[in-house]
Amino acid sequence: MSPLTRAGATRYLASRLTNEVVVANLGQASLDLLAIADRPLNCYTFGAMGQCSSIGLGIAIGRPDVRVICLDGDGSLLMNLGSLCTIAAEAPRNYVLMVWDNEVHQTTGGQPTATARRASLVAIARGAGIEKGLEVRTRDELERAVDRILAEDGPFVVVVKVDQGSTTAAFDPDVIGQPARFRKALAAR
Ligand SMILES: [Mg+2]
Repeated sequence: MSPLTRAGATRYLASRLTNEVVVANLGQASLDLLAIADRPLNCYTFGAMGQCSSIGLGIAIGRPDVRVICLDGDGSLLMNLGSLCTIAAEAPRNYVLMVWDNEVHQTTGGQPTATARRASLVAIARGAGIEKGLEVRTRDELERAVDRILAEDGPFVVVVKVDQGSTTAAFDPDVIGQPARFRKALAAR
Protein backbone atom coordinates (compact mmCIF):
# COMPACT_ATOMS: atom_id res chain seq x y z
CA MET A 1 0.00 0.00 0.00
CA SER A 2 1.34 3.44 -0.90
CA PRO A 3 2.21 5.80 1.96
CA LEU A 4 0.88 8.71 -0.09
CA THR A 5 -2.65 10.00 0.28
CA ARG A 6 -4.54 11.76 -2.49
CA ALA A 7 -5.26 14.71 -0.22
CA GLY A 8 -1.62 14.99 0.84
CA ALA A 9 -0.38 14.78 -2.73
CA THR A 10 -2.99 17.32 -3.83
CA ARG A 11 -1.88 19.67 -1.04
CA TYR A 12 1.78 19.34 -2.05
CA LEU A 13 1.11 19.90 -5.75
CA ALA A 14 -1.09 22.91 -4.96
CA SER A 15 1.72 24.43 -2.88
CA ARG A 16 3.92 24.42 -6.00
CA LEU A 17 1.42 25.91 -8.47
CA THR A 18 1.58 29.41 -9.86
CA ASN A 19 -0.41 30.06 -13.01
CA GLU A 20 -0.99 26.54 -14.36
CA VAL A 21 -4.41 25.30 -15.38
CA VAL A 22 -5.52 22.27 -13.35
CA VAL A 23 -8.24 20.03 -14.77
CA ALA A 24 -9.65 17.71 -12.10
CA ASN A 25 -11.46 14.44 -12.63
CA LEU A 26 -14.99 14.11 -11.32
CA GLY A 27 -15.42 12.62 -7.86
CA GLN A 28 -12.51 12.37 -5.45
CA ALA A 29 -9.94 14.41 -7.44
CA SER A 30 -12.31 17.37 -7.83
CA LEU A 31 -13.58 17.15 -4.26
CA ASP A 32 -10.08 17.20 -2.79
CA LEU A 33 -8.90 20.00 -5.07
CA LEU A 34 -12.01 22.06 -4.35
CA ALA A 35 -11.54 21.67 -0.59
CA ILE A 36 -7.75 22.06 -0.46
CA ALA A 37 -6.83 24.51 -3.19
CA ASP A 38 -9.80 26.07 -4.95
CA ARG A 39 -8.65 28.72 -7.45
CA PRO A 40 -10.05 30.27 -10.64
CA LEU A 41 -7.65 28.34 -12.91
CA ASN A 42 -9.09 25.01 -11.69
CA CYS A 43 -11.44 23.26 -14.12
CA TYR A 44 -13.69 20.71 -12.36
CA THR A 45 -15.13 18.09 -14.72
CA PHE A 46 -18.39 17.36 -12.94
CA GLY A 47 -20.27 14.35 -14.31
CA ALA A 48 -17.84 13.60 -17.14
CA MET A 49 -16.27 10.28 -16.12
CA GLY A 50 -13.29 9.41 -18.31
CA GLN A 51 -13.05 12.82 -19.94
CA CYS A 52 -10.54 14.63 -17.70
CA SER A 53 -7.48 13.72 -19.80
CA SER A 54 -9.23 14.65 -23.06
CA ILE A 55 -10.64 17.95 -21.79
CA GLY A 56 -7.19 18.91 -20.55
CA LEU A 57 -5.66 17.90 -23.89
CA GLY A 58 -8.04 20.22 -25.72
CA ILE A 59 -7.15 23.10 -23.43
CA ALA A 60 -3.41 22.40 -23.84
CA ILE A 61 -3.68 22.38 -27.64
CA GLY A 62 -5.80 25.53 -27.65
CA ARG A 63 -3.53 27.38 -25.26
CA PRO A 64 0.07 26.28 -25.88
CA ASP A 65 1.27 29.19 -23.74
CA VAL A 66 -0.29 27.71 -20.58
CA ARG A 67 0.84 24.57 -18.75
CA VAL A 68 -2.10 22.23 -18.19
CA ILE A 69 -2.04 19.64 -15.40
CA CYS A 70 -4.81 17.03 -15.38
CA LEU A 71 -5.62 15.21 -12.13
CA ASP A 72 -7.28 12.01 -13.27
CA GLY A 73 -8.27 8.80 -11.51
CA ASP A 74 -7.31 5.25 -12.43
CA GLY A 75 -10.92 4.22 -13.03
CA SER A 76 -11.60 7.18 -15.27
CA LEU A 77 -8.41 6.84 -17.32
CA LEU A 78 -9.12 3.13 -17.78
CA MET A 79 -12.46 4.16 -19.34
CA ASN A 80 -10.66 6.34 -21.90
CA LEU A 81 -7.33 4.66 -22.70
CA GLY A 82 -7.55 5.88 -26.29
CA SER A 83 -6.86 9.33 -24.89
CA LEU A 84 -3.25 8.25 -24.26
CA CYS A 85 -2.78 7.54 -27.98
CA THR A 86 -4.14 10.98 -28.87
CA ILE A 87 -1.89 12.64 -26.28
CA ALA A 88 1.13 10.82 -27.76
CA ALA A 89 0.19 11.77 -31.31
CA GLU A 90 -0.48 15.43 -30.55
CA ALA A 91 2.37 15.59 -28.01
CA PRO A 92 1.67 19.04 -26.54
CA ARG A 93 4.74 20.17 -24.63
CA ASN A 94 2.55 21.96 -22.05
CA TYR A 95 0.53 18.89 -21.06
CA VAL A 96 0.77 16.81 -17.86
CA LEU A 97 -1.51 13.94 -16.96
CA MET A 98 -1.28 13.02 -13.27
CA VAL A 99 -3.29 10.02 -12.18
CA TRP A 100 -4.30 9.43 -8.55
CA ASP A 101 -4.10 5.62 -8.76
CA ASN A 102 -5.74 4.10 -5.68
CA GLU A 103 -6.58 0.88 -7.59
CA VAL A 104 -10.31 1.18 -6.86
CA HIS A 105 -13.43 3.01 -7.99
CA GLN A 106 -13.59 4.97 -4.74
CA THR A 107 -16.73 6.99 -5.35
CA THR A 108 -18.90 3.98 -6.18
CA GLY A 109 -17.84 1.83 -3.24
CA GLY A 110 -14.24 0.70 -3.66
CA GLN A 111 -14.51 -1.88 -6.44
CA PRO A 112 -10.98 -2.89 -7.60
CA THR A 113 -9.81 -1.60 -10.98
CA ALA A 114 -7.41 -3.30 -13.37
CA THR A 115 -4.45 -1.51 -11.76
CA ALA A 116 -5.10 -3.54 -8.60
CA ARG A 117 -4.23 -6.63 -10.64
CA ARG A 118 -1.77 -6.59 -13.56
CA ALA A 119 -2.26 -3.34 -15.47
CA SER A 120 0.33 -0.54 -15.27
CA LEU A 121 -0.89 2.83 -16.53
CA VAL A 122 2.71 4.03 -17.00
CA ALA A 123 3.47 1.00 -19.16
CA ILE A 124 0.26 1.57 -21.15
CA ALA A 125 1.19 5.25 -21.62
CA ARG A 126 4.66 4.27 -22.85
CA GLY A 127 3.10 1.78 -25.22
CA ALA A 128 0.86 4.53 -26.54
CA GLY A 129 3.98 6.53 -27.35
CA ILE A 130 4.34 8.88 -24.38
CA GLU A 131 8.03 8.80 -23.49
CA LYS A 132 7.90 10.68 -20.21
CA GLY A 133 6.07 8.30 -17.90
CA LEU A 134 6.76 8.34 -14.16
CA GLU A 135 5.40 6.15 -11.38
CA VAL A 136 5.41 7.78 -7.95
CA ARG A 137 5.06 5.93 -4.64
CA THR A 138 6.82 8.12 -2.07
CA ARG A 139 6.96 11.76 -1.03
CA ASP A 140 10.51 12.10 -2.41
CA GLU A 141 9.41 10.72 -5.76
CA LEU A 142 6.43 13.06 -5.79
CA GLU A 143 8.64 16.08 -5.14
CA ARG A 144 11.05 15.08 -7.92
CA ALA A 145 8.18 14.47 -10.33
CA VAL A 146 6.64 17.87 -9.60
CA ASP A 147 10.04 19.51 -10.11
CA ARG A 148 10.17 17.96 -13.57
CA ILE A 149 6.61 18.62 -14.73
CA LEU A 150 6.90 22.30 -13.79
CA ALA A 151 10.25 22.77 -15.55
CA GLU A 152 10.48 20.38 -18.50
CA ASP A 153 8.57 20.04 -21.73
CA GLY A 154 5.97 17.29 -21.79
CA PRO A 155 3.81 15.55 -22.46
CA PHE A 156 4.13 13.74 -19.13
CA VAL A 157 2.12 10.94 -17.59
CA VAL A 158 2.69 10.73 -13.83
CA VAL A 159 0.94 7.87 -12.07
CA VAL A 160 0.83 8.51 -8.33
CA LYS A 161 0.01 5.46 -6.27
CA VAL A 162 -2.16 6.68 -3.38
CA ASP A 163 -3.85 4.83 -0.57
CA GLN A 164 -7.58 4.19 -0.50
CA GLY A 165 -9.93 6.43 1.37
CA SER A 166 -12.78 8.71 0.48
CA THR A 167 -12.39 12.41 0.67
CA THR A 168 -13.94 14.12 3.64
CA ALA A 169 -14.76 17.16 1.52
CA ALA A 170 -18.41 18.04 1.05
CA PHE A 171 -19.82 17.96 -2.46
CA ASP A 172 -20.85 21.52 -3.19
CA PRO A 173 -20.46 22.01 -6.93
CA ASP A 174 -21.47 25.18 -8.69
CA VAL A 175 -21.81 23.73 -12.16
CA ILE A 176 -22.66 27.08 -13.72
CA GLY A 177 -20.47 29.46 -11.73
CA GLN A 178 -17.25 27.43 -11.52
CA PRO A 179 -16.87 26.77 -15.28
CA ALA A 180 -17.70 30.43 -16.00
CA ARG A 181 -15.07 31.53 -13.49
CA PHE A 182 -12.54 29.16 -15.08
CA ARG A 183 -13.19 30.41 -18.63
CA LYS A 184 -12.81 33.99 -17.49
CA ALA A 185 -9.54 33.24 -15.64
CA LEU A 186 -8.09 31.36 -18.62
CA ALA A 187 -9.05 34.13 -21.03
CA ALA A 188 -7.27 36.62 -18.77
CA ARG A 189 -4.04 34.58 -18.78
MG1 LIG B 1 -9.49 5.16 -8.30
